[in-house]
Amino acid sequence: MRRGMYRIPEDVARRVQLGHPWVYREALGARKLSEPTGSLVDLATGNRAFVARGYVDADHPVAVRVMTRRADEPVHPGSGVVAERFARAVRLRWQVLGTARPSALRLFSGESEGLPGVTVDRYGDFVVVQWLSAGALPWRDELCEAIAAHIAPAGLYEQRRVRSLGGQAAPEPAAKGAGRDAPLEVTVEEADCRFAVDVTAPLGVGFFPDMRLGRDAVAKHAAERRVLNLFSYTGAFSVRAAKAGAALVVAVDTAAKAHSRARRNFELSGLDDKGMELITADAMKTLERFADRQRFFDLVICDPPTFAHGPGRPFSATTDLARLAAGAASVLSPGGLLAFASNAAKLSAAEVDRALAEGSAASGHDLRIVERHGLPPDFPVHPGFPEGNYLKFVLVVKAP
Ligand code: SAH
Repeated sequence: MRRGMYRIPEDVARRVQLGHPWVYREALGARKLSEPTGSLVDLATGNRAFVARGYVDADHPVAVRVMTRRADEPVHPGSGVVAERFARAVRLRWQVLGTARPSALRLFSGESEGLPGVTVDRYGDFVVVQWLSAGALPWRDELCEAIAAHIAPAGLYEQRRVRSLGGQAAPEPAAKGAGRDAPLEVTVEEADCRFAVDVTAPLGVGFFPDMRLGRDAVAKHAAERRVLNLFSYTGAFSVRAAKAGAALVVAVDTAAKAHSRARRNFELSGLDDKGMELITADAMKTLERFADRQRFFDLVICDPPTFAHGPGRPFSATTDLARLAAGAASVLSPGGLLAFASNAAKLSAAEVDRALAEGSAASGHDLRIVERHGLPPDFPVHPGFPEGNYLKFVLVVKAP
């Protein structure tokens, strides 16, 4: 193999040909990548047939991310390819969203749209670019110019969530890349509700555009119900439920700061705090307490993080989902609804169903899935990239 060309196994080559953008370090075998982060290398099969060209990330388990599957397509920084792909992504948004243009939306899902390791989100007049691999940074100027040309945001902020092989690097606060300083809160709208977003935050800005369809489903069913929102964060589900006429919203989160942001979102949405109760505690323990006291709800929302270090034992979606489903079913009134979600890319839709089945069997409550929702159209997924389809949301009815 020549310099700058690396051999990958047949099965990996097939996956890459079908649209998967990642090649893990193990797939390169014993040969070490000699090129620095950000350089382009070619991937080939055993008989030296070209498969793809991608950029190197020397510090990430995903060693190469694919930029093209055509040997003759120029993809180097400055080639204009990223500007063209961003423009196409924006056109796709306007095509699939029609006149309904959410003020919080994903403009570019790089993994599926041609610059892996990058996402671009819009929150009101501001844009947040997330860098998930340092190897994508050589295309930074080209991408930022394309964003300015097509979106003309008031300001652009960049979050670097570049993971090193040595473990998770501490998140740096978002840095302003262009335009004016963002105010302390940028307001975004969804349905008849308003939410405060901090585009300068190092990690989450305080609102998840990807859960839009799940929130719509909750709003549709919330009227006159007693709602329990577990892992409530800044209260996006709580606000949508309250605005849709919920009789009561009880929100549970271990972070007191999240509750104060939820309070602000209630206020921005024109809701008073009479019908809401904010509990700073562990979700599982709270469910046990409610079950003991026979406190029931007509709609329970359960949208846990993939992983979290709590004050007690850590929560992990891969091991704790069934227990959570059982606990949630135990506090549901007969005929009540459970909105159950997971954004863990490692869990398939079938595995989330399985957790519900285990929870149902363990608690003795009969459950039926009646609705399923996933990513909205501004999160397009390449069909050859299953990890991109990470969001599962099911609406479940407990037998009356
Ligand atoms: N459902 C939210 C997003 C959840 S983010 C939304 O719709 O916006 C995850 C939240 O879970 C964080 O706010 C975190 O503080 C909280 N959390 C983590 N571990 C928890 C636990 N054991 N019990 C309750 N909340 C927890």
